[in-house]
Amino acid sequence: MSDPSLYEIHDPRFRSLIIANAALEELHSGCRWAEGPVWFDDAQQLLWSDIPNQRMLRWVPDGPVTVFRQPSNFANGHSRDRQGRLISCEHGTRRVTRTEPDGSITVLADSFNGKRLNSPNDVVVHSDGSIWFSDPTYGILSNYEGYKAVPEQAERSIYRLDPATGALSAVASDFIQPNGLAFSPDETKLYVADSGINPDGTAPAHIRVYDVDGARLINSAVFCRLDEGRPDGFRFDDSGNLWTSGGHAVHCFAPDGRLLGKIRIPQAVSNLTFGGPRRNRLFITATQSLYSVFVTATGVQRP
Ligand code: MG
Repeated sequence: MSDPSLYEIHDPRFRSLIIANAALEELHSGCRWAEGPVWFDDAQQLLWSDIPNQRMLRWVPDGPVTVFRQPSNFANGHSRDRQGRLISCEHGTRRVTRTEPDGSITVLADSFNGKRLNSPNDVVVHSDGSIWFSDPTYGILSNYEGYKAVPEQAERSIYRLDPATGALSAVASDFIQPNGLAFSPDETKLYVADSGINPDGTAPAHIRVYDVDGARLINSAVFCRLDEGRPDGFRFDDSGNLWTSGGHAVHCFAPDGRLLGKIRIPQAVSNLTFGGPRRNRLFITATQSLYSVFVTATGVQRP
């Protein structure tokens, strides 16, 4: 029997993706707002952001959690490029950076059309080397997760950074607040969460999907809508199921957009990633804590 307080089965297919007797583990607590988990398969470590505390933390299987970087410039989402280098979104400096093997920092993007970015939030890297990131205003709304400022950009966009030229292009802007993003396993589609709230208090609470047409996105559509909370960060397993944050749960959607099930989490979930030596462990950042749970699904292979 699966634990009904941990697993919600909305479609029988979900039973084959979870391990009924696998428990939720709290690996660390004491953050103010945990976000941006990124797994390093080569180092068998997880890095994530504790945004208001201006730090990035590092978890390893057999050691204490340590501070990886502080101050972090209010870093939020992270990813790795094809060479395994860390790519980071920073609210405080309103930029996207790359950490080189020697530890030095290279700025990849901090402006568009001569104006500062809002506050890059989350980032993914295509296998062609292009870097795609979201630029909502969360990091400049207050001094809690960055530095309060008036947005300079007219829109809140998804940007694509060309690997050859370094040129930045806005590829989508049909959002209130674009947030997490991920490519489908075959990279033919890009999915983007809209975590914004309308002026009347309603929220789309949906994840959009686009066809990737070279350097462009076409055919914008709604992939799924959450019935609880709003989506922030998400990842795909290698069967094309989408695992997303939303309220106090991880929601799993089938490739056809149907809700398969949820994993209940004690705190509001911000983001997640697959990791561990077999990529069958979900690492979940949720408000103050880092959680994990083993599943039968395995994450899309990345460096
Ligand atoms: Mg986010």
